[in-house]
Amino acid sequence: MTATSSPPPSERSLHFLEEIIESDLASGKYQSILTRFPPEPNGYLHVGHAKSICLNFGLAKKYGGQTNLRFDDTNPVKEDVEYVDSIKEDVRWLGFEWAGEYYASDYFDRLYEWACRLIGKGLAYVDDQRQDEIRATRGTVTQAGQNSPYRNRSIDENLDLFRRMKNGEFADGEKVLRAKIDMAHPNMLLRDPILYRIIHAAHHRTGNRWCIYPMYDYAHGQSDSIERITHSICTLEFDVHRPLYDWFIEKLEIFPSHQYEFARLNLTYTIMSKRSLLELVKLGCVSGWDDPRMPTICGMRRRGYTPESIRLFADKIGVAKHDNVIDLSLLEWCVRDDLNRRAMRRMAVLDPLKIVITNYPEGATEDIDAVNNPEDESAGKRQVAFGRELYIERADFMENPPKKYFRLSPGSEVRLRYAYIIRCNEVIRNAAGDVVELHCTYDPETRSGSGSTRQVKGTIHWVSVGHARRAEVRLFDRLFTEARMDAIPEGKSYRDFLNPDSLRTVAAFVEPALTGLPPLTNIQFERLGYFSVDTDSTPDNPVFNRTVTLKDTWTKQLKMEH
Ligand code: ATP
Ligand code: MG
Repeated sequence: MTATSSPPPSERSLHFLEEIIESDLASGKYQSILTRFPPEPNGYLHVGHAKSICLNFGLAKKYGGQTNLRFDDTNPVKEDVEYVDSIKEDVRWLGFEWAGEYYASDYFDRLYEWACRLIGKGLAYVDDQRQDEIRATRGTVTQAGQNSPYRNRSIDENLDLFRRMKNGEFADGEKVLRAKIDMAHPNMLLRDPILYRIIHAAHHRTGNRWCIYPMYDYAHGQSDSIERITHSICTLEFDVHRPLYDWFIEKLEIFPSHQYEFARLNLTYTIMSKRSLLELVKLGCVSGWDDPRMPTICGMRRRGYTPESIRLFADKIGVAKHDNVIDLSLLEWCVRDDLNRRAMRRMAVLDPLKIVITNYPEGATEDIDAVNNPEDESAGKRQVAFGRELYIERADFMENPPKKYFRLSPGSEVRLRYAYIIRCNEVIRNAAGDVVELHCTYDPETRSGSGSTRQVKGTIHWVSVGHARRAEVRLFDRLFTEARMDAIPEGKSYRDFLNPDSLRTVAAFVEPALTGLPPLTNIQFERLGYFSVDTDSTPDNPVFNRTVTLKDTWTKQLKMEH
């Protein structure tokens, strides 16, 4: 766990990418910088992508440059416009606007020409070996690979075969185009890597125009170069690809983009591979990509995360050069920090216990002033109806309380938030012996704001039985039971660690001001946590998602570490 609460960006020392950019600008190597965010449209974006988005767009913003959004759409089988649209929505929602919107598939013609150029220089050849043969002859880390029997085809034959590959004369897997580098190269990725393979499949943008598709390594760097990207930032696992990235640029004599690597974000209790997230959706483990338990940006949005909280998180974790795992509680700290300032306070009772105030006049009600947000005076006040019958939280009553329990128990007093001090006099049970009702009395002199000086230790929230509305409240827990989901033991699958209790739905009573709110409105239920109006919500059936509880485990953990 490496994240700590960091000073604001202005006071922090530069991270390594900022240092590189500042030196590139100072030396005049670049007049301005251009970064890119290059998702493959084969799934919805997750919080790891959010880190990359904040980094790429954030750097450009800081140094007066720009950022392109480029879809790395070189695999027709896995990609779809549904994903393209969701990615654009998510980037915008995070608060960023791209300079250019590009697609690697827009560059297919140029990439093809450049492949012919490599063939012309004797640096690429058509190989008839099957994928498994190619794999088997690559050698190992300690052993050189073997040259393909097709490695020494003439330039003319290669050009002809490659053209025929493009024209659809061969079946999938029959031929590939490979770079001619060195089958004994210590970096296995440089042992004649595959540049093109044959896939007879319709592409979501180019349709059936192509049946050969470039590999990631051949497409990515060249796309950077076409767009004249100055700083191409990717995750650490691509550092072994950098020599190949540079090799293509050198041999093709094209704009020299540079690749830099930083540590990918890992979060405790979270998986982040799009393939696994897709599986969760397909298997029905979650309700969809935007299930509020998902680490996807759309799931987090539906859960009640705000763009500000995600950007704050990205900033706090900083930019590391070594892999690490960030504690989920830091992300939760960030959303609390943001919502504390902005969310309206409301009262809701999730597990109701009815109380009757026996000395309160029957049939009477009164309106009580309640503060909307103690952190923001401009949020003002609202009125909440108070009456003889109220719901309180079942957990706020204990029949045989331990010492230092300051909530309600037989004979004890507690303050009802914004209202009066009450005393519990009688416990009513049903035939089975369960507590079903409490009879209390109130002290009319103690109304909040009336100048009363009488104090009690505990304050609890409540809603009036006669005014409360029903609401469905979805309480989420971690989707996985294991913290280190980035390092689960061999032979185990992430599915072995699914938390069976990650969703609990309760029928709650809420104050009337909680009905009719638009989806995604952020609210604090007093004493319970931050909640957000779900997209399933209707005026008659409000639905709330618990974003996060109020309990801060992050600061506690920091204190323990220090
Ligand atoms: P996944 O394995 O989840 O599919 P990916 O890296 O294949 O992720 P891409 O769509 O290729 O997904 O990623 C787009 C960009 O986001 C890349 O530059 C990638 O490095 C970055 N990225 C992806 N996951 C993370 C992460 N966990 N932390 C930081 N950056 C990430
Ligand atoms: Mg990828």
